[in-house]
Amino acid sequence: MTLRGAGTSAPVAATITAADAARTRWQVLVIGGGPAGAAAALRLAAGGARVLLVDRGGMPRWKVCGCCLSVAAVQELHLLDCGVGDDSALPFDAVPLESVCVAHGGRSAVLPLPGGGVVSREVLDAGLVAAAIAAGCHWLPQAHVASIDDGAAGSQQVTATLTMRPPADAIMTSHVITADRIVLATGLADHVRIATLDPASVSHTPEDARRIAADNRIGLGATLPADAADLPFGELVMAVGRDGYCGVVRLEDGRLDIAAAVSRESLGRGADPGRVVAAIVAEAVGRSSLPMPTTAALSAAAFRATPPLTRSAPLVSGPRGQILRCGDAAGYVEPFTGEGIGWALASGRLVAEALLADQLDVGDPLRPAAAAATQYRAAHHRRIAAVHARCRRVALALRRPGVVMAAVQAARVAPWAARRFVPAVIGAGSLGGHR
Ligand SMILES: Cc1cc2nc3c(=O)[nH]c(=O)nc-3n(C[C@H](O)[C@H](O)[C@H](O)COP(=O)(O)OP(=O)(O)OC[C@H]3O[C@@H](n4cnc5c(N)ncnc54)[C@H](O)[C@@H]3O)c2cc1C
Repeated sequence: MTLRGAGTSAPVAATITAADAARTRWQVLVIGGGPAGAAAALRLAAGGARVLLVDRGGMPRWKVCGCCLSVAAVQELHLLDCGVGDDSALPFDAVPLESVCVAHGGRSAVLPLPGGGVVSREVLDAGLVAAAIAAGCHWLPQAHVASIDDGAAGSQQVTATLTMRPPADAIMTSHVITADRIVLATGLADHVRIATLDPASVSHTPEDARRIAADNRIGLGATLPADAADLPFGELVMAVGRDGYCGVVRLEDGRLDIAAAVSRESLGRGADPGRVVAAIVAEAVGRSSLPMPTTAALSAAAFRATPPLTRSAPLVSGPRGQILRCGDAAGYVEPFTGEGIGWALASGRLVAEALLADQLDVGDPLRPAAAAATQYRAAHHRRIAAVHARCRRVALALRRPGVVMAAVQAARVAPWAARRFVPAVIGAGSLGGHR
């Protein structure tokens, strides 16, 4: 299986109807077809499990994202590729990322950023879902999951109630899906309610356990036509201002991707998101001649917003530990260093490795739920907790204009030293290979 970009942004058709899915007993139901869910589904299906992957939308779909693949994300995609294909090429024909230009207070510094890539989320996410289908998983788009019942006393199964939305069904219909395990890969907007039918079990209310960071920022994103700025392929511009920061990069098809993290106060003042982003860019770029979209173009762009960015949620829910979270649904730190896709792919891998039994010849491809939960918690903590902590430190530093200005000045005066410092800020790459 080789992960290719060309043609993968064609619609990815359902492989099963909701009615047939409700008649099947699944070993794993994966909710959310982003990088985390698709990576988990692909690996679980390749490992012999009967897997259903559902998403409330269809593929391809647009998403608020900087669309930069970190070195770790590229490595995770190569691991998904099962070792087949040319390891020197970027997966999905991503555009090689060469440098980042950080602008602040009218000054800017350019730093090399080798090893990563740029690819639109339409191509990446649709391609990953197509790869998961090729590995043997079933795919059901336009299927919104509102709630999960984690099983009556003694029952080993969990059920999820999903609503099929037009155009998948002519009218809205509800279906109950039964599975041995559920993987929640629902991203930042993880609103799935988990109810317990077991009166003896402790009440699990993951909403209560979810933690949203104070001083949190909101994500904003839009795309602009190719001629909105003279930005070359492979160059990322990060504009850092008092109210947040904004990255601009050219996608493989020429469009410009704009992604920003802004303070809630800046939006709370009733400002239009486009104007907030335009103000951040204008403040950062000043009078310098960086190839950025004009204030008018940014103000007029149709921005979409995300929920507050920095958060964490329990990795495992349910009295028997049958519900596991991965990707942004498990935890996220705001995106300056552009690592979320890599974390999502890695946590999708870790959840699949934890769920799959070591030996395939025992009949059941799944490890007992409690053992899988313990393994997943430990692996997630080992591989992802430290990188989240580093990103939190970067996010805090970005709120201090003096620190940002000093860093930009230092990079201008001593670029050789700044180059050596970059890996400490953005991470050196690997999130750990196979078990
Ligand atoms: C402004 C911004 C810039 C970013 N820039 C970068 C970057 O440059 N590089 C990088 O690596 N990362 C970046 N990220 C982070 C990256 O976008 C995420 O970390 C990544 O998409 C997480 O993948 P995921 O699979 O966990 O979630 P998602 O990609 O969000 O996928 C979740 C899926 O779940 C589905 N879903 C949600 N709820 C339900 C439900 N109830 N029922 C059914 N389906 C459901 C959604 O439709 C969606 O398709 C950025 C994020 C933001 C906000």
